[in-house]
Amino acid sequence: MYTVQSATEYTKLFIDGEYVESRSGEKLELRNPKDDTIVTSHVPIAGEEDVDKAVTAAEAAFNGPWGGFSGAKRAECLVKLASLLEDYLEPILTLDSLTTGNPISIIPTREKNYIKNCLLYYAGWTDKQRGDYFPADDGFVKLVRHEPLGVCVAINPYNSPVASLFVKAAPCLATGNVLIVKPSEKSPLGSLAIAPLFEQAGFPKGVVQVLSGGGTTGALLSKHMRVRKISFTGSVATGKKIQIMAAQSNLKRVTLELGGKSPAIIFEDANIENALTWTINGILARSGQVCVAASRVYVQESIASEFIQAYKERMQAAAKQLGNPQDPQTTLGPLADAASFERVKAMVERGKTEAELLAGGNQQGDSGCFMEPTVFVNPKPDAQILLEEVFGPVSVVMTFRTEEEVLALANDTEFGLMGGVFTRDITRALRVSAKVESGVVGINCISVMNLQVPFGGKKSSGIGREFGEYALRAFTEPKTVLINMNA
Ligand code: NAD
Repeated sequence: MYTVQSATEYTKLFIDGEYVESRSGEKLELRNPKDDTIVTSHVPIAGEEDVDKAVTAAEAAFNGPWGGFSGAKRAECLVKLASLLEDYLEPILTLDSLTTGNPISIIPTREKNYIKNCLLYYAGWTDKQRGDYFPADDGFVKLVRHEPLGVCVAINPYNSPVASLFVKAAPCLATGNVLIVKPSEKSPLGSLAIAPLFEQAGFPKGVVQVLSGGGTTGALLSKHMRVRKISFTGSVATGKKIQIMAAQSNLKRVTLELGGKSPAIIFEDANIENALTWTINGILARSGQVCVAASRVYVQESIASEFIQAYKERMQAAAKQLGNPQDPQTTLGPLADAASFERVKAMVERGKTEAELLAGGNQQGDSGCFMEPTVFVNPKPDAQILLEEVFGPVSVVMTFRTEEEVLALANDTEFGLMGGVFTRDITRALRVSAKVESGVVGINCISVMNLQVPFGGKKSSGIGREFGEYALRAFTEPKTVLINMNA
């Protein structure tokens, strides 16, 4: 009988359908960022032997009965998993809240629906990988099959660990692959807890395995000669390392979902209330620890003083929402750990010397990793706070006069994940959205993702796309079959 255990009971890796001790014997210590108390010090770190064992089991699963599952049967497993999660997702996500600081208030609605919809969406795709056919106009019938890649690995960031797991697992399994999940060393508990549910849903053992550990475990998987694909979400710096390891080992396929410094562009004719709502939510969701955070806000000069005053007041008011993430009333939690907090704090302190502080700028309280919602204005052109991803509740607000000027400013970055254009003029909205250099652009919205359509970054924000039909392409490869009709 499956139950969600307490944090200290997750002491083993999940390999080939069971929890097993790690051969490395090394452990991770995890703390609750609300008060620095130890949540557990028993989470295993997978070493080389563990990684090899998981890859061997994954290969066996790929070549076993799973390979013979029809699309309908794979869909059945995904749908069953979605239904099992009805009962278990809340306690599983609550486990992760202990180490990420994500407020549990977002679990019953936003988080749960997102995960469930992701499974149901990809369940609908399992039997629609039809490939292609070309007639024998040259004596050959040509067939194109979309084949799974084999052993795939998900290397995940810390901010929304279980949602990241499913965003990768659902298309990976829908297309008949097998998956090893390597959650972040900061938030492995939910991923370890969820692992046995896959078998309960009908997936054969070894199809999904979970190896906890840090960068070394991730690197072992990235270099592994029998891993065929890494689906990575995390920082640009780590993404580059993974790309190099993949190239230097077996040229495994790599998709990279990386960081952002997303611009919100607010024109004078915009619905100001709407723009305020989206830009504030877009920088405060998960305390700014989201890749699509609306961290640069550009406001047209004619409405700047009104907008900036209201934006400042709302960010200051939001500071009152900061609180215990395990309290269902809390909507704004701490940063994920002391390292993240110190990094954000150092960037804010430097920001105070390179820009003008408008709101926040300090730790809230004197314990825990609570950072006040923080707003800067008038940054120097080379201010770190303007150029680098903060991954905290910190934004920079600037003004502009013309469309040309704001596009040049918004695009003056190596990042290209998300953008937002706020205006009531539809032609301007479409014109500007075409010129914003990002993988996703919102019109009168920002920092929002939709499962049906591709998601990913331009420029240094990533390679490849997740979500929608595009994720299926990222987990399959075409094989051409040539049939000689004259034999
Ligand atoms: P990170 O790059 O530090 O770590 C991500 C994962 O990579 C972790 O599991 C980590 O253990 C692993 N890792 C670290 N070093 C490695 C190595 N050398 N080889 C292989 N794996 C290694 O990122 P993070 O701090 O966990 O997450 C924050 C970053 O993730 C931000 O930049 C954020 O923008 C980005 N992010 C992007 C998206 C997206 O979809 N584009 C979503 C969420 C987060």
